[in-house]
This record gives sequence, structure tokens and C-alpha cells, in this order.
Amino acid sequence: MRYLKSMVDENILDKTLALLKKYYLCDNCLGRLFARLGRGLTNKQRGETLKIVALMEAHRKLIEGLLSVEEFEKIATNIGSIADDTAVELGLDLKLSEIRKCSICGFQSLDLKINEYAKKALELLRRYSARTFLVGVMKNSSIERKEEAIASEYGLKFYENVRNELKREVGKAVQSMSNMNVRVDFSKPDIVVVIDLDKDIVSIRRMPLYLKGLYWKLGRNISQSKWILWDGSKKYPYSVQEALETLKELIGAKEVVLHASGREDVDVRMLGSGRLFIVEVKEPEKYSFSIRDIERKVNEKSRYVKVRFLGEASRKEVRLAKMEHARKIKVYKALVVVDKNVSEEQLRGLEEYFTNKVVRQRTPRRVLHRRPDVVRLRRVHSIKTKLLSSHVFEALIKCDGGLYIKELVSGDNGRTKPSFSEYLKAEAKCVELDVVYVST
Ligand SMILES: [Zn+2]
Repeated sequence: MRYLKSMVDENILDKTLALLKKYYLCDNCLGRLFARLGRGLTNKQRGETLKIVALMEAHRKLIEGLLSVEEFEKIATNIGSIADDTAVELGLDLKLSEIRKCSICGFQSLDLKINEYAKKALELLRRYSARTFLVGVMKNSSIERKEEAIASEYGLKFYENVRNELKREVGKAVQSMSNMNVRVDFSKPDIVVVIDLDKDIVSIRRMPLYLKGLYWKLGRNISQSKWILWDGSKKYPYSVQEALETLKELIGAKEVVLHASGREDVDVRMLGSGRLFIVEVKEPEKYSFSIRDIERKVNEKSRYVKVRFLGEASRKEVRLAKMEHARKIKVYKALVVVDKNVSEEQLRGLEEYFTNKVVRQRTPRRVLHRRPDVVRLRRVHSIKTKLLSSHVFEALIKCDGGLYIKELVSGDNGRTKPSFSEYLKAEAKCVELDVVYVST
């Protein structure tokens, strides 16, 4: 069995000689046909070496009468200029320095192309001050098809797809040309460089930039997203979204999308710890900038919304930030007006009653048009109150995220139980509300 196997074994050199008898191949394309053999080598090195050994072997066979002059001429011609001196010594006039096109890639050499693509890519990466990139190559090029045809014609099992070589080598070349200032990043590249071999062009796809931050709403009547009415006017004078849209001018983004971790009502201020958000900056004109600088400029332009950027985020964190807010602990400050006199004593009682109290809350009537009618159980952890006048008090309410505070105060016609109204046996109303803390 072993004997039979070795009978059909065609070694690399035989295959190379057979290939070079018929095709002119550039170093990279020849080397790539044996790419999976030998580690730590480039295909260019494989190709160069194979050509040298093939020249030596063809020379030996010619001297020993195992190869005709015509066969040697074909091989030497396809090997190219390294066969020059040998041909001259043999008195053959082969014009080896003539520029020829590789039978696979169609270029003079794929190596020159790699360099050209890398230069073009780096120029584009620099135009947008990208820090990271990834190289992609479009599928089904005519080069891929030629490569497959030749590999199958010669039964080559160890070849590598040209797309792999280009992705790897263009990536390496860009990195070294930039002195490692621009790096390959497989998971979160700023820019994806796309090579189209058939059209022989390099283009790019600018990936979105995600910035994580905290926002504060210092005024009331400010919505989170920009709310445009049917006639094109704004429902509210300002929004967190608009504050962040300054990024469009600052880093030349096409679109800015705000992903916040929950939201407060339009008339509720967001104070204290601020609320977490991630802003998605689509197709920015630049990827390198000082985050503090950007933050200062956003805040300069925005009077009632302030932001602090915490750094960059990933697409994955957007989902997390959106999901997690309901599980967070929040502290609200509510200004409560009661239609009867309230005593200090009653307020002490209210504080005690609501300590660690689970509240049963049916979806408030005011949000029923956009939320399903369900019953939620949310815990009030503690309440601290301060009587301001006979009918007015302030309450600091620490509770689970997702509890509607205005209804905790009013009772919402019995839809929220227990409530301040129910406990005080009076009508209590939350007239001002601020978020002062959101746990991180
Ligand atoms: Zn080639």
C-alpha cells in the first residue's frame, strides 16, 4: 500500500516544473498554489524559492538529457529574469526581461498590486483618521476562478484562495506603511477596506462609532429624542438628541442616533448621577479626536442638557444599556401637593409604611396609548420626606427602575396600590419630579 501510494506521489518540484512548462505565474500566485505547506513564509517567498529550485532542476535535466532544449526554454521563459544568466550561458536568446502578465492574477505581479492597494487603502484610512481597519475582498472574481481552474488541472490540494492572501498581505502592508499607527482589528474596525479585484479598485465602508456617556437634563419640557410634529415643527423646544447632534458638525457624522438606558418624562429633570446613554455616530468624517474637546463643545452649545463622555462602546453594549435600565435602582425627588393639611407625623408614618413596600402598578392611563395594559410589581426601598408647607412636601424616593412615580403619588384612580393618596386619605399630586440617581 505504502509502495503504491509513493508511486503516485508527485512532489512539489514536479508539479512546479509542470506548471511552469505551461504558465507564466508571478511569485505570489505560484507560491499560493502551495500556500498550506511550510509555516512562517509568505507566498512570495514560496514562489521565489520554487522558481530558483525549478531553474536548477530544469538545468540539471537539460544537462543530463532528460529535458529537450524546447522544454527548457519554455520553463526558463516562465521563470523569468532569474533564469537570465543560465540562458545566456546556454546561448539561448529568451528575452526574459520582457514584462509579462501572470496567468492567474493578470498583473505583472500580485506583490506590486498588494502594495498599490495598501497605499490606496492607507490614503483613505488617513483621510478619515481611522485607527483600525479590516480588509475584505469581494468574492467570485475572475482571478479566483482562474486559480481554481489551474489548481484542479494540476491536482493541487494545498493552494490558498487569493482573497485570503490579499486580506492578510494588504493588512500587513498598511500596518507597516503607517508605522503601526493604523492597525487591523477583526472585531471592531473603524473602517472596512473593500477590494474589488475585477474592477481593480479599493473602496471603504465607514463603520459607526459608539460613544458612551451620561446626560443631565437641567430643565423641564425637554424630550429625549427630537419629537417632530406633522407640520414639521417641534413638540418640545429642546431634546437630548439635539444636544448630541452637535457631533454632526464636530466629527462630520451623517447621522447621530441616541440609545439611552431608559428615559424620564419630558417634564422630569435628570440630575445627580446622570443617565447612561450610547450615541451611535454614523459614517463619521473622523475617528480620531479628543473626547474631552468634543464634550466641551457639545456642552458649550447646549444650555439645558449636559453630557459627559465615558469612552467608546461597542454595538453589543447598546443592547445591554437598553435592557439593563429596568433593573437599576433609582432615586427621585418629587414635589408633592396634597389637597388637605399634612402633618410631620403623617409623613413619618408614610416613610415607615413605604419602607421596602412592593407596589402593584397597572400601566398608567397616561401611557396606555403606547404601552400594553399590564400589572407590574415594583419595590419602593425607602422614602425620605420634608414638609415645605401645610399642603406641600418633598419626597426622596428610592425604588426599582420602572416604577411610575407620578402614579405612586396620585394612585391613578386605584390603578397603583398602595399610593401616597391612599395612605394620606387625600388627593396627592406630583407637581415636579427629578431623577437624582441611577445606579450604574
Ligand atoms: Zn499573479
